[in-house]
Amino acid sequence: MSQLAAFGGPAAVPPALRAADWPVITAADRQAVTDVLDSGKLVSDAAGEPVVERLERAWAERVGTGHCVAVASGTAALEVALASLGIGRGDEVIMPALSFIATGIAPLRQLATPVFADIDPVSFTIDASQVAARVTARTAAVIPVHLHGQPAAMEPIGAIAGRHGLALIEDAAQAHGASYHGRPVGSLGQAGAFSLQVAKNLPTCGEGGLITTDDRELARRMRMTRQFGEIIETGQPRDYISYLPGWNAKISPVQAAFALSQLDRFAEYDKMRRENVTRFLSAIADLPGLRVPRAEPGTRHVWHILRFVLDAAAAGLDGVNGSGFRQALHRLLRAEGVPVSRYQVMPLPRQRIFGQAAAGQDQWPVASAVIENSLTLQKRHLNPYSGPLLGAYTDAFRKVWDHLDVVSQMARAAV
Ligand SMILES: *Cc1c(COP(=O)(O)O)cnc(C)c1O
Repeated sequence: MSQLAAFGGPAAVPPALRAADWPVITAADRQAVTDVLDSGKLVSDAAGEPVVERLERAWAERVGTGHCVAVASGTAALEVALASLGIGRGDEVIMPALSFIATGIAPLRQLATPVFADIDPVSFTIDASQVAARVTARTAAVIPVHLHGQPAAMEPIGAIAGRHGLALIEDAAQAHGASYHGRPVGSLGQAGAFSLQVAKNLPTCGEGGLITTDDRELARRMRMTRQFGEIIETGQPRDYISYLPGWNAKISPVQAAFALSQLDRFAEYDKMRRENVTRFLSAIADLPGLRVPRAEPGTRHVWHILRFVLDAAAAGLDGVNGSGFRQALHRLLRAEGVPVSRYQVMPLPRQRIFGQAAAGQDQWPVASAVIENSLTLQKRHLNPYSGPLLGAYTDAFRKVWDHLDVVSQMARAAV
């Protein structure tokens, strides 16, 4: 049994393996960017900007919606969708207590109020029964988040939205290519918001976003909203009239071209990632006290983030608390070369900007427990050639689990 790297032993992940860059940038990606620079069309308000339209068409086709509107970021996608659906002052928008901050900021921008529902402990996505419990006369929309690449429970959530006449906006920023009962995410509500940020499953070389919808009129409002509320039509002179209070949320053609080039290899990378991740997860699934993520039945998970739930008692470490177990594993795995980290350190509603952090009973006990008792892997496994790296991660996990006595001592000493 080899010595733990934290105590001077050799690291399980050889340094030479550790660089698994994301995104993978090829000559074709570089050429796509250069072509835009050479085209002279450097802003997307040039009527009929071809590369932006091509990206929109390609993504709409993939998701199976009639329309796609490209915008400046995933956050802008949520904001433009909410604004175009008429969500505004006094409206309540229900969303999960575990997500990225942008999900919660988007309704604030509309002077609407985010309302947080607890999550399911296994899928980490919004708990439909908690959504139902939070509906009031002011509720105007629900934003299920397909967190970590796992589609949310769209059937029950869609039924609640339908019953109460709520807009349904999917936050699919982490879930390009995921599907729910065979239907792609982004096609399951009134609008789907995707991010093209460089760390997401479909990356650009910076920031970008895509909104999908089947609603032609909604798509028209979203196009106006992304550009000062103007109507821009190919072949028509720009009239400089704002028909609604939009803002500047356009995507750059450079970002669009890079994402479009990545889209050529998206399916292939997605397939390779699925194989790598599936093999990795099954190779460590038997470790006691480690719950590896799994796809919910009937869904296609795209493994954007891998979240591992830790259970000291199940590992045989009685009397070790969750946070101590997590901290010990965090330190030992990182020393072996596995870049585990936390993803979100508090439930979204506890972020001070939402002003709901008041003491008292925890209204989101599942989200709190998941955050306290889990570690994540991000980004490295997105690289389609990460198979050998994940093999070394397997060795590292198994090595640390061979030293549960050390884990136990460290966990008891942690504060
Ligand atoms: C990344 C992300 C966003 C925001 O996307 P940006 O492109 O970074 O603005 C929104 N929601 C979730 C769940 C995300 O992961």
